Amino acid sequence: MSGPVVPVTEALLRAMPLPRHEEGEDKDARGRILVIGGSTETPGGALLAGLAALRAGAGKLQIATCRSVAPALAVAVPEARVSGLEETPQGGISAAAAGLLAERCGRVDVVLLGPGMLDGAAVSLLTARLLGSTAGACFVLDAAVLQELAGCRAALDGHAGRVVLTPHAGEMAALLGIGRDAVLADPLAAARRAATELQAVVAMKGGCTFIADPGGRAWSCDRGNVGLATSGSGDTLAGIIAGLLARGAEPTEATLWGVFLHAEAGARLARRQGPIGYLARELLAEIPRILADLL
Ligand code: AMP
Ligand code: MG
Repeated sequence: MSGPVVPVTEALLRAMPLPRHEEGEDKDARGRILVIGGSTETPGGALLAGLAALRAGAGKLQIATCRSVAPALAVAVPEARVSGLEETPQGGISAAAAGLLAERCGRVDVVLLGPGMLDGAAVSLLTARLLGSTAGACFVLDAAVLQELAGCRAALDGHAGRVVLTPHAGEMAALLGIGRDAVLADPLAAARRAATELQAVVAMKGGCTFIADPGGRAWSCDRGNVGLATSGSGDTLAGIIAGLLARGAEPTEATLWGVFLHAEAGARLARRQGPIGYLARELLAEIPRILADLL
């Protein structure tokens, strides 16, 4: 299957504008998002993703993470409601928290599942349970969840067209059950295949990011720079996309806008600070200005 690959440009995005928000609106109008992520070793993934969602304009943020890191995360992100969940001996969120989380998922517009999660067995169980029991919310799946998704693909049934996947090459390889080399040899084909088979919008991340949707359309974005290849960078991208979904953007729009905003944030930091060595957390404050410039 092939068709044109459309470059993601400012003109393309201006032709698919994000939802407008009037002066009189309250924060509920810009959506509720639940970030489920973090672990005792990597709580920062949930922090970066949650803040990125707010920087992209989401109205209300909840973060659900492991119990032992929740108090520190709550202080670090005073804008969020932070819940501490039962944790596994490996320091990940326990599958025993699935019931409580499923209830929370049912009360938000967007669930971002994965940033900073560890402990594959628990991640797999949680992913299957939460996808299997949540109707209505859009899902963004990232990181460890993508490593486990191949084992619970049936859980995506019923979510067609309302899921965004943001794999890098290693995660895409796990998702499709092929080698990383095969993904790198043709990342566009991998993106298209995953989008069709999983009925999801897919951002296949790399130096050039390819976006594919379940309808067979494809786009590319090479606006970023090598400094984006840094710890936490992908967590911010997933958070931006989730934030745009919370504001009411459609999954394809949110993904195209999110990939562009993330890349452009890197390009602006590269110009000001130098091409390598800026931090993922520094991408966040760039987002509102870029959004305003694109209006
Ligand atoms: P992750 O590996 O999940 O932290 O995601 C890394 C992010 O950095 C993705 O958005 C990639 O598209 C981006 N990225 C990685 N390498 C490059 C590169 N050489 N040039 C531009 N962007 C990159
Ligand atoms: Mg990542």
